[in-house]
Amino acid sequence: MSVIRTRFAPSPTGYLHVGGARTALFSWAFARRHGGTFVLRIEDTDTERSTVASTQAILDAMTWLGLDYDEGPFYQMQRLDRYREVCDQLVRDGKAYRCYSSKEELDEMREQQRARGEKPRYDGRWRPENAVGKVPPAGVQPIVRFRNPDDGVVVWDDLVKGEISFANAELDDLVIMRADGVPTYNFGVVVDDWDMAMTHVIRGDDHVNNTPRQINIYRALGAEVPRFGHVPMILGQDGERLSKRHGAVSVMQYLEEGYLPEAFCNYFARLGWSHGDEEVFSIAQFVEWFDLAHISRSPARFDPEKLRWINSQYLKVADDSRLAALAEPFLRQDGCDPSTGPPLERVVRLLKERAGTVVELADAAVYFYRPLVPSEALREQHYGPGLGVMIDALMDRFGSIDWNRTAIADAMKQVVVAHGSKMPRLAMPLRVITTGEAHTPAIDAVLELLGREETRIRVGRERARLPT
Ligand code: GLU
Repeated sequence: MSVIRTRFAPSPTGYLHVGGARTALFSWAFARRHGGTFVLRIEDTDTERSTVASTQAILDAMTWLGLDYDEGPFYQMQRLDRYREVCDQLVRDGKAYRCYSSKEELDEMREQQRARGEKPRYDGRWRPENAVGKVPPAGVQPIVRFRNPDDGVVVWDDLVKGEISFANAELDDLVIMRADGVPTYNFGVVVDDWDMAMTHVIRGDDHVNNTPRQINIYRALGAEVPRFGHVPMILGQDGERLSKRHGAVSVMQYLEEGYLPEAFCNYFARLGWSHGDEEVFSIAQFVEWFDLAHISRSPARFDPEKLRWINSQYLKVADDSRLAALAEPFLRQDGCDPSTGPPLERVVRLLKERAGTVVELADAAVYFYRPLVPSEALREQHYGPGLGVMIDALMDRFGSIDWNRTAIADAMKQVVVAHGSKMPRLAMPLRVITTGEAHTPAIDAVLELLGREETRIRVGRERARLPT
């Protein structure tokens, strides 16, 4: 086979949806797997809904995900001359024709068809053979319709779904060029996929109904028809079409919520595609394994908890300096200045085991940079009789030890033994006193990072509250 060429062709009418991102991921991986070429094309012909901001949001999301393209971005609105040229050719060849019907006229036609119990469809009234002797109404800018074959069946072997066929009798003469000279989706997409020499068109299965129309246009152009693979939709846990109710649906929201792009790609690669039982795999591994045959034929269900779990797996092994850089802006939003406390890299190393997202990681780091006042409930729960005396003894020892985790733990043990107490009776309140929280990593590790002086200050601040 010739060199593989695939594309992603989003319409810039909003943010990049997770479903779109997954389609892009599959299309990209297929090209990469086969040493092919991946093209980005912005389908901006819906001039009312397309925005520059959406285009930028799509480009940003592609960059974040690491989905690099070899050609493009191409913009359809910069290719209008080409669509007009191909359209004129089809008209000259008798494969398309100008239609002057007004909207009102077509509404009336459909109304009558419905009244007769027929399926509403364009009746071909401006097909050349029906328009003989008809005078085009003055001042009406015509649209152009494709002359769809009347009989026969359009069949293709879908790379995901297997054989699909449509009877031509089901398809009417679709509009390919609007009166303003902008092509419709089904026409622009064919001209582009043809010009850009696409070998494989991988897209959402909401386009299955468009594919037979597109195949007919390829044939009318004498163009080679690419292979098609239609990827099933992503649904929510309840089986409904994925929407905001099911969690974030914009790719960039996952960046904002503290997901790592490799975790996002891993999760969405696995959603509706499988390689044995593998769940956690790198993008390089994915590219090596990816094949269209293992895309599931039924819709996948989005599970935000599993995405979070995958993210936590990636956080555990992520580089500390990278995590520190990612967490820093979130900490600053929380009113913390990470340059005023322990090195953030060391803090994230301690905390990354337990975090599901970078935002959680940053939240968990707050007490290192800003003392948190314990709640009354925590004080009541953890401050037992004799605590003040034990804490004084501990602070005494803390004054002279080497400040490291082991020495801190030893000092705590010695105080517990000397007072005939138990470790949790010292460790828990000490945690609450110094961090304002009941759940942190091992307190000796926390205090080591917090530092001797800061520990002393925080204990001093809470000392008057401790029962003696
Ligand atoms: N612009 C179309 C969409 O976003 C592209 C469909 C296709 O890939 O052909 O749905």
